Amino acid sequence: MAIDPVCGMQVNEKTAKHKSEYKGETYYFCAPGCKFTFDEKPEDYVGPNKKPFVPMEGRGGKM
Ligand SMILES: [Zn+2]
Repeated sequence: MAIDPVCGMQVNEKTAKHKSEYKGETYYFCAPGCKFTFDEKPEDYVGPNKKPFVPMEGRGGKM
């Protein structure tokens, strides 16, 4: 399993529909919104300048 770097959800890389490459690494996302957010500012989510992880509560309802 991979971790969606935007929301922290586990994503199965075999079935993931949303992924991005950044600096030679492949990242997987649970939803198009997470990929879009990552693509806009990938340095916020990976690498030395990433922001502290903040759970996105109240963003899209409960799981
Ligand atoms: Zn996500």
